[in-house]
Amino acid sequence: MVATKDETGPEPVHVVTMRCADLSTPVAGAIVSRCHTCEEPVWLSPSTVREAPNPRTVICLPCARPLTVKDKIKPDPLTEGQRLEIARETGLHGDALDRAIDSVVKHLTSPAANAPGRNAPLPG
Ligand SMILES: [Zn+2]
Repeated sequence: MVATKDETGPEPVHVVTMRCADLSTPVAGAIVSRCHTCEEPVWLSPSTVREAPNPRTVICLPCARPLTVKDKIKPDPLTEGQRLEIARETGLHGDALDRAIDSVVKHLTSPAANAPGRNAPLPG
């Protein structure tokens, strides 16, 4: 999954990905990378490695959430390769696949379950 700020510029694209701890069985050929923010091991799928724009910042789902909510980073539509990968892994197609992807995007951009704490603004 790919998220970018809603503006053009040299800013790296945020590649949002699952932590290894949260996904024991990644897509075939996935490689391990590290979250730019928390340094947890994360998965990079082959299509992400191949198709995600550069420069890019790899960030895990939990770290991406406060960013997407606070800074209004908007997830980019998935590439065709990423959709195919998800379809292959989940067995979902067409509308069912769109709904599954939509629910992840909503989860990413909804402030409802945003945990306060280390991403709270500093006083002063
Ligand atoms: Zn992280």
